[in-house]
Amino acid sequence: MDEFEFIESIKPKTYKQSSVIKGIGDDAAVFRQTAKDIVTSVDTFVENIHFSPITMNPYYIGYRALAANLSDLAAMGAEPAFYLVSIVIPDKWSDSSIQEIFMGMKSLANMYKMDLIGGDTVSGEKLSISITVIGYVMKGHARYRSLSVNGDIVFVTGTLGDASAGLHIMTHEGSYIEEAYLKKRHQMPSPRVPFALQLEHINRVALNDISDGIANEASELAKDSNVDIHLIADNIPIHASLEQFTLMDQRKWKLFGGEDFELIGTVSSKDWPNVKEAAEKSDTKLTKVGYVTDPKSTEGKVFLHEEEKTSLLKKHGYTHLK
Ligand code: ADP
Ligand code: MG
Repeated sequence: MDEFEFIESIKPKTYKQSSVIKGIGDDAAVFRQTAKDIVTSVDTFVENIHFSPITMNPYYIGYRALAANLSDLAAMGAEPAFYLVSIVIPDKWSDSSIQEIFMGMKSLANMYKMDLIGGDTVSGEKLSISITVIGYVMKGHARYRSLSVNGDIVFVTGTLGDASAGLHIMTHEGSYIEEAYLKKRHQMPSPRVPFALQLEHINRVALNDISDGIANEASELAKDSNVDIHLIADNIPIHASLEQFTLMDQRKWKLFGGEDFELIGTVSSKDWPNVKEAAEKSDTKLTKVGYVTDPKSTEGKVFLHEEEKTSLLKKHGYTHLK
């Protein structure tokens, strides 16, 4: 398949978003929007760094790459609308595998009526996929990390550590409880878009998505908002099936495990009932995990309260270019 046939094969026949004026096929795409704020983000996934063909088939690679981007939109409170895909294709990847990658993205995109409106296709040494997403948020209602204030409640969606447990299962042979569920949490994560959209009418919510573990994401909130965040270790929700692993693994995965794509947020106690209602309406598990205070030192930090002890929770996880 040459580049032109390939582009033809992934080009949508119709667009779901009514704001599209020009989709794939010209030098650039055009859409029209005046009513809302536009939110955009890009993420790049490289073979053997962000995914391995051993644990991920091409369909999951596509699905998960777009899910990670949608998680960023959710963390801004934005409604997904478009995506653009720049892909580097090595010779050894078959046409059908590349098609599968796009199918994986499309199946998730369809859930949110997103349109593929552009991208770029080149050949190269390693499979690399760079996805740009575009979404909309009510004017002035983007959910910044800098919006936490003293007295807020800290909450998280879903359960933490599942994706790490799923990856562990795929890389350590054995028989496991809830194997399919845990694998799926790694391969096909659900970005919390419906929950984030249900928060639309709340004036102030700080949100961050958990891509590198709650320790890391909480410390981004603390730093950017210049507040201290207190997490109660026992309140951080884990799935019942994680009890089959050692306590050390459970703790490591719930605090530092990456790629759950859940949301952590803070909100005033006055608006907490509205957050609970948003969770019910979007059928999302929601847990209160801590509280926010003024900073003890010059910089906002995260404190973990665990069995009578309080410790400073440092960022862990994978950091590129230290
Ligand atoms: P140009 O030379 O103007 O950059 P291209 O041949 O790269 O044009 O692309 C032609 C059209 O196909 C453009 O609309 C571009 O956005 C789209 N396109 C190319 N590659 C992809 C891709 N991987 N995914 C989605 N759209 C793509
Ligand atoms: Mg091009």
